[in-house]
Amino acid sequence: MDQSSIQGTIFDIQRFSTHDGEGIRTNVFLKGCPLACVWCQNPEGIDPKIEPIWLPDKCIYCKACSDYAPAAISWDGDNLVINYAYQGDWSKIIEKCPTTALRFNAGKMTVLQLITELKKDEVFYKFGGGVTFSGGEPLIQIDFLELALIASKQRGWNTAIETALNVSWSSIERVLPYVDTLFADFKIFDNHEHMKHTFVSNNLIKENIGHLLTSEFKDKVIIRTPLIPIYTATKENISMIAKYISKIYPEVKYELLNYNPLAISKYPFTNLTYCFSDMNPTAYTNEEMLYFQNLALESGIRNLVKI
Ligand code: SF4
Repeated sequence: MDQSSIQGTIFDIQRFSTHDGEGIRTNVFLKGCPLACVWCQNPEGIDPKIEPIWLPDKCIYCKACSDYAPAAISWDGDNLVINYAYQGDWSKIIEKCPTTALRFNAGKMTVLQLITELKKDEVFYKFGGGVTFSGGEPLIQIDFLELALIASKQRGWNTAIETALNVSWSSIERVLPYVDTLFADFKIFDNHEHMKHTFVSNNLIKENIGHLLTSEFKDKVIIRTPLIPIYTATKENISMIAKYISKIYPEVKYELLNYNPLAISKYPFTNLTYCFSDMNPTAYTNEEMLYFQNLALESGIRNLVKI
């Protein structure tokens, strides 16, 4: 395996991010996730498959796509309908679109191609920024991720990954030497509730948190809980998580992420339904954030990370 042969499936590269690590960062989103949280902020990253999508805002309704491949593309009034069962060459159809309204929802890149892309932002990395690998679940593309992290460290870049930890410990161990910060989600403490809302058990996640917080790399780890109204942002859940992780490592770093109401806008481009499609809550106020942060502190957290 080398940097010019192994490919990753990437669904987005976001520049100039100031979250998810130190300084100004480039976030690389790897496609595919073993969880399917009903509130997922990046629903286009759950399915590992690369598929065509249609962005109505960019469409000029020239019908070049449907004229070229009527078996693949049809219309329901002003709505373009994609026939996902179509077995022909989608790239040929997508080439016909003059505006990129019809496009793939992800692409393949070698590590070398990715590093070339990231070099465009290198100037920021010299001032404390770096690259953050997110998803989806970046660790399910472990061969690509490991090589990309090694290549980043060889250039002296700060590195971070965001993971939900529902992967084998052997995969996590492979990347630990090459990450400066590992953001690990711990969403729901109760296993029954976890299964109900993410569709996987949290047993492996808890096991991996145990390994991480007793390892020589424990100070690189920041455990995070995204505050999702009703689902994760409850007194009991925050208290249980805070008690659990601070018992394993009393100096554990813990961060509570405010609810992001903007995720709903991504769902029309997927075949998924957002958990708050009927009534989208607003983000928590400063006072409400303080309430949750105090809960964590009262439950044993000494190192609360605040943005
Ligand atoms: S080719 Fe592109 S712009 Fe033209 S109708 Fe199809 S999606 Fe819209």
